[in-house]
Amino acid sequence: MSALVLDGKTVSSAVKEEVAKEVKALSDKGTNSCLAVVIVGDDPASRVYVNNKKKACEVCGIKSLEYALSSSTTNEELLSLVKELNENPEVNGILVQLPLPKHLDEKLVIESIDPKKDVDAFHASNVGKIMIGEYDFLPCTPAGVMEIMKYYNIETEGKDCVVIGRSNIVGKPMAMLLLHANGTVTVTHSKTKNLKEICRKADILVAAIGKANFVTADMVKEGAVVLDVGINRLDNGKLCGDVDYINVSEVASAITPVPGGVGPMTIAMLMKNTLKATKLQNNC
Ligand code: NAP
Repeated sequence: MSALVLDGKTVSSAVKEEVAKEVKALSDKGTNSCLAVVIVGDDPASRVYVNNKKKACEVCGIKSLEYALSSSTTNEELLSLVKELNENPEVNGILVQLPLPKHLDEKLVIESIDPKKDVDAFHASNVGKIMIGEYDFLPCTPAGVMEIMKYYNIETEGKDCVVIGRSNIVGKPMAMLLLHANGTVTVTHSKTKNLKEICRKADILVAAIGKANFVTADMVKEGAVVLDVGINRLDNGKLCGDVDYINVSEVASAITPVPGGVGPMTIAMLMKNTLKATKLQNNC
């Protein structure tokens, strides 16, 4: 069996098209949408992500403002910029690209963003809202995974869902969204015993580990849906996911590729959140 390829590029284009339509309709009524992106230092991967986010803004008709700060920026300077952006009525969404250089306090910076402009949904108050299922913004990567499944009519209700990884930005919120979608969810991590056996029970398997080709075909149930969040760079410079794509494709019924799977979805969902922030702030 060769699995159906869940094409994140197609789904993300569809999401961005919808966002662009709504952004245009708002702008025709005099309300513009604007995302401020803050990048600190010169991490090449962060630079690529920021450029892709700016390109997506262009496609959607969302104005993007970039604040590129030097790697010697202090906590005070960064917090002062966030405060300025919080207070600027023209800015609807604020995104501080992570990871920040080590000397900066990531938690403090995230908590300083106005929750109404927190389009990454990392602020504790937005995380809490997700927990109780009454949220304004969904975290972009897990929301992107859910959107791909929705597009391809993949049913989650009553399904055994296994998430590998428990980070605050992917694993934990992913588990929560699957739970809200009536999945029966198991969250696994580096201390999990019998990981292979647990994964083999999954109808829906989400890998968010950060280890190239970690999920092998013998960890996957015949016919499972496999969603690969991982982005790993191999020694030869190529990108690959956390899943051994070629071999797992022979066992799974559907699978996301890397690149071209969950990655583009993350950015599309950021656009959706920026539009939502604009609507919330303008009561429309
Ligand atoms: P992270 O914070 O490093 O978390 C990794 C998780 O994997 C941890 O919970 C860790 O367990 C678990 N883990 C590590 N080794 C394991 C093992 N041997 N068995 C089982 N679990 C293990 O990473 P993250 O931020 O969640 O990101 C995960 C991956 O997704 C990375 O490749 C990242 O680049 C990618 N990513 C992609 C997107 C996208 O847009 N596609 C967005 C965000 C992240 P412990 O908690 O026990 O340490």
